Amino acid sequence: MQRLRLEISGAVQGVGFRPFVYRLAHRYGLAGWVSNTSKGVVVEVDGDAAILAKFADALLKEKPAISIVQNIRSKYLLAAGYTSFKILKSTGGKKMVFVLPDLATCPECSLEILDPENRRFRYPFTNCTNCGPRYSIINTIPYDRPGTTMSRFRMCSKCRNEYDDPYDRRFHAQPNACPECGPHLELWDSGGVTLARRDDALGKAAAEILEGKILAVKGLGGFHLIALASSDEAVRTLRSRKGRKMKPFALMFTSISQISELCVVSSEERKSLQSPRSPIVLLKKRDDQNSPMHISELVSPSNPEYGVMLPYTPLHILLMNEIGVPVIATSGNLSDEPICTDEIEALERLRGIADYFLVHNRPITRHVDDSILRIFNGREMILRRARGYAPLPLSMDEEAESVFATGAHLKNTLALSIGKNVFTSQHIGDLETVQALEAFDEVWNSIGALYNAHPDIIAFDMHPDYISSVKARESHIRGIPVQHHIAHIYSCMLDSGARPPLLGVSWDGTGYGTDGTVWGGEFFRIEGGTVSRIAHLRRFRLPGGDKAAREPRRSAFGLLLKLYDDPLEHLPPGTFSQGESDIMKKMISSKLNSPLTSSAGRLFDAVASILDLHQIIEFEGQAAMSLEHMIGDKKTEESYPVEIQRPEGEPMIIDWAPLIEGIIIDASEGMDTGIISAKFHNALAESIAAVAETAGEKKVVLSGGCFQNVYLLQKVQDRLENMGYELFIHRNLPPNDGGIAPGQVMAALMMNSEK
Ligand code: ZN
Ligand code: ZN
Ligand code: FE
Repeated sequence: MQRLRLEISGAVQGVGFRPFVYRLAHRYGLAGWVSNTSKGVVVEVDGDAAILAKFADALLKEKPAISIVQNIRSKYLLAAGYTSFKILKSTGGKKMVFVLPDLATCPECSLEILDPENRRFRYPFTNCTNCGPRYSIINTIPYDRPGTTMSRFRMCSKCRNEYDDPYDRRFHAQPNACPECGPHLELWDSGGVTLARRDDALGKAAAEILEGKILAVKGLGGFHLIALASSDEAVRTLRSRKGRKMKPFALMFTSISQISELCVVSSEERKSLQSPRSPIVLLKKRDDQNSPMHISELVSPSNPEYGVMLPYTPLHILLMNEIGVPVIATSGNLSDEPICTDEIEALERLRGIADYFLVHNRPITRHVDDSILRIFNGREMILRRARGYAPLPLSMDEEAESVFATGAHLKNTLALSIGKNVFTSQHIGDLETVQALEAFDEVWNSIGALYNAHPDIIAFDMHPDYISSVKARESHIRGIPVQHHIAHIYSCMLDSGARPPLLGVSWDGTGYGTDGTVWGGEFFRIEGGTVSRIAHLRRFRLPGGDKAAREPRRSAFGLLLKLYDDPLEHLPPGTFSQGESDIMKKMISSKLNSPLTSSAGRLFDAVASILDLHQIIEFEGQAAMSLEHMIGDKKTEESYPVEIQRPEGEPMIIDWAPLIEGIIIDASEGMDTGIISAKFHNALAESIAAVAETAGEKKVVLSGGCFQNVYLLQKVQDRLENMGYELFIHRNLPPNDGGIAPGQVMAALMMNSEK
């Protein structure tokens, strides 16, 4: 007889781990105990060595699907003489537990709500230990019902029995509820007058959606706007009310088979769609759509993909079952604002957008948007990290000082490191509206409070005027400014496990450079703790400064002026008037409001403008997306020449002049835009390969919004791997500015240790 002691850390609390261990111990006839402690879950069992080994093996193999074991320590000790197996009370102490993300409804709960014999038939707030809300309802940890927004609901005796029974799937399921004792639905008109309650509200809401009305639906982490995807009229109305002309809307389907009728779905994509994280997955539209279902062209215009998700709460499952056809499910907000979470606030903010409001009385503690990802080479690559993923941490090699980071200006997230773990907040958004700044403050306060953190360092963007930087400087913690593109590379290092020495390629739209110019096409060598900028794209001036981000034609003008006396000759007719051209020339020659940039994003913009794809855009990255989409299946290995200049004692310069000249010639000869675009992308991949060759580092890290471009990413990967380089890309953190905050944490820790 021996005693086995296991200490299991990670996301192991509030996931049904203790009852699982309890059942397992009974299966093997072992006596002992299991408990939640500050370290995680601790188990002790007495038994025969062979059986103990089997028990430990089964524990890891069969652990609850939603748990994440970060580390497990096992010790064999003298038998303690236990006579039975017990679940002990949690012990106190400073807790270092993970707050779990919200999890999609599990298969068992899904069956219950569709079973007329079940007491939870058609109950939209059904959940169990394996599924349901977590992060969106937690006020304080430890994760117990009084610390959640479910504290206002008193469990009925049936729910209470489930909650207390270690053999029940709802043992210690904190949001446990039923129609007797839990939250309920109401349907409101746009003035907040109640039209229907409970199941009646659900049925009426579905009927209104089928009629073509736009509904604001309070879900898990906030409001969706829901409209019939087949109706041009409904989509057009939603677009005009929301002020969103072209940006694709996400779709919700009733089932995976329904998705397969309209989209190409690989087994990996199916797995992500059906996972407890239930993200929006970007899927290729089918060419051979012979489905009775119809999706309006206006849902995702001139885009080969749909963003698609499955219903992930009982409410969505029931609603979709009533509707039966795909709907648009887009964030309940005006363009670029954070998602709305409160029904009274929703009436105000979504006034004039939604015809009806389907609401409920379970409060949402914090906004959590739907996550967005794509499958690239068989693995998830996350583009917006929120529901299902946040706030799970990524792990560093070693424990370090606690750092708080305030992130980027666009696609803002916050990050906090404690010990070895780096926690990244849910997506907050562009810090350009009052609502976004409120959300920023709320997340800042709540992330610190949740983990009871007292950071030693605050990291922030170098930009002198960003509100995230200004607020960081105002705090009384020691501040470390971090350059935007360096933060990108450190973010990918944390994400992918790449360790120096390495070459970091950081390409995106905009970031404040250490020389005060606008960076965005940068190459860094990282050796130990030293970062040197070894190359960048050739610079040009952006007439109008910030305006250029929305107007690709301004990038084109500034860039062409480096090569030609009259840019207008090489721009599509009518792009600018002669008067506008004269003003911009003056701005540039006098260096007035026309900053220098080495941005790759602006180079994409310029090419999109020259090819007349976009002169003015609606959303960030739109021009680059169109350029990528133009390629379609037009394959070519051809490329434009790119010149690398090597000025003495300065970073190398990648000169796009021959590339632009080539594009202008091809376009004037009437070459297909898709082929031109492919040659342009190929040239960029070549330029990265050329710098990599000169740098001589065997490891190459890619980060920044440009590497959301799958064609470019694949080209660079093929090219570098052929040359024997090891490539590191983003998977768990977004390549875009959503990944900046954890990158700032890593960069600040590096700079701090170098001092
Ligand atoms: Zn469940
Ligand atoms: Zn109940
Ligand atoms: Fe960026």
